[in-house]
Amino acid sequence: ALYVAKANKAERSHFWASFQGEEVFSGESNLPYLTLLQQDEGLIAYYQPILHLATGRIIGIEALARLRQGTEIILPDTFIPHLDSRAAQMLTSRILRIATRTAQQLHIAGFPLEVAVNIPPDALFADNFLPELQAVLADCTLAPEQLTLEILENGDFLSLQLAQEKIATIRSLGVRVALDDVGSAYASLLRLKEIAVDEVKLDQCLVRGIPEQPGDLIFVGSVAALALSMGSRYVVEGAETPETLDALAVLGVDCVQGYAIARPMPEESLLPWLQAWTPEPQNNQPKTLLGA
Ligand code: C2E
Ligand code: MG
Ligand code: MG
Ligand code: MG
Repeated sequence: ALYVAKANKAERSHFWASFQGEEVFSGESNLPYLTLLQQDEGLIAYYQPILHLATGRIIGIEALARLRQGTEIILPDTFIPHLDSRAAQMLTSRILRIATRTAQQLHIAGFPLEVAVNIPPDALFADNFLPELQAVLADCTLAPEQLTLEILENGDFLSLQLAQEKIATIRSLGVRVALDDVGSAYASLLRLKEIAVDEVKLDQCLVRGIPEQPGDLIFVGSVAALALSMGSRYVVEGAETPETLDALAVLGVDCVQGYAIARPMPEESLLPWLQAWTPEPQNNQPKTLLGA
């Protein structure tokens, strides 16, 4: 195993895990997560389909990390906040490998989908990130444009020159970059406009009120205008009902991800699900959503 977590008997309140020969400090509560993370079967990816509204086709999947402990599946919001920087980097590398392998298998099975992977700032800023990304691309048959890296919209780190340089370098390789959870932080939409990305992904908290809440409709529509002016694809996540899907189609949204289409599913369910999917363009005739 790459990663060995071991209890430090001298100091019971902490333990050190060694990762590729280096010592990593972590709090005690991390131990179960780190132990699972190092196991081949402990870290897995679930996948959620991404629907292109105009055609009704599934154009991509997002890889979502899960830890598996026996029959229990642990969600990322439970374990990701406990990971230190190095563990977050390891998670990212492994999910990148797992997700590109899955996408490659789907291509072979006749579904040439894009695959999206979440990249935390710790991994993005790591020195070995770009060489590793190039190695991942070299080791798989995916075209770079079939890989999307989702970077959290967090005004603080995105404003760094270094973040913008990393994003530009990733894009120069042909890999797509998405800003994830747009609207969840306090970053100004105008500042987002300065950052060149391929995709803007609206946070799900802004979709809850669609189609009932006029304020949410206006916000979703405003970000559509922003994405259009940036030349970026506009993806909305968290659509839970068919009514929401219809409303989003009218608001200028390109793609949607949400329980209304499918919940995240384990790899083995993906191919049967895709085979059963019948593309049907979503209703995109203008309606009187804004009370006109
Ligand atoms: P995210 O990247 O914004 O991913 C979307 C989350 O929204 C997923 O939660 C997904 O299951 C959930 N979701 C999608 N559609 C709906 C819906 O219609 N209703 C509701 N209520 N939820 C929906 P998940 O898988 O629990 O992941 C949560 C967050 O954890 C992700 O948010 C992402 O920020 C992070 N995460 C997941 N996998 C990874 C990973 O491999 N690496 C890193 N660094 N972070 C990850
Ligand atoms: Mg994401
Ligand atoms: Mg998101
Ligand atoms: Mg999120």
